[in-house]
Amino acid sequence: MDITIAQNIEKIIKSIDNERVQLIAVTKTKPVPVLLEAYEAGLKVFGENKVQEMLEKYEQLPKDIQWHLIGHLQSNKVKYIAPFVAYIHSVDSMKLLQEINKQAFKNKRIIPCLMQIFIAQEESKFGLDPAEAAEILASSELKELENIKIVGLMGMASNTSDTEQVKKEFAGLKQLFEQFKSTYSGPNIDFQELSMGMSGDYPLAVAQGSTMVRVGSALFGHR
Ligand SMILES: *Cc1c(COP(=O)(O)O)cnc(C)c1O
Repeated sequence: MDITIAQNIEKIIKSIDNERVQLIAVTKTKPVPVLLEAYEAGLKVFGENKVQEMLEKYEQLPKDIQWHLIGHLQSNKVKYIAPFVAYIHSVDSMKLLQEINKQAFKNKRIIPCLMQIFIAQEESKFGLDPAEAAEILASSELKELENIKIVGLMGMASNTSDTEQVKKEFAGLKQLFEQFKSTYSGPNIDFQELSMGMSGDYPLAVAQGSTMVRVGSALFGHR
């Protein structure tokens, strides 16, 4: 057992100290033995950002691990993870949702999805703005998707040491979450999860209402 991974887990869980918040161990780029150490130290929820890597690790590791896809997902790759993925955090289009629904149906599953909202100052190719997300939630196409469930929102704050800025972005996402939660409902809409916070900013995210923190380097060291 690598003593540092176990210690990091303990330290982070202590500092979160909130029953509402789930720790997602971001294991991208880390080899299988490292994931196994984290598993043996008690972590059962892993986040990966690439389909191929998640698939390879899924095949080699115990089957009671929950796999969360947190990175950009191409429609043509959904089929590989649909049999087992626990949550998809990075939904950024109706087209992707429709493909997730199709593959979930084939696997006789309902896949929980979060919509990725663009909240940072930096330019990014991925993520929806609030108006685009609202359009998806209000659409008639969404009502037909019986094998997905929209369970919340995901966001990444600006990569800056300006904590006021980061706090503002998380607070904005929380506000949008509450607005969507009170506005949109249906058989496949159930706003429960707010996925925000990474190694550098998870305490700020938890203070602003996060329910899922995605922590990599603070657990496993730099990539
Ligand atoms: C890599 C990654 C994380 C974790 O980043 P750390 O700074 O290592 O904690 C969280 N979320 C997403 C979407 C990522 O790609």
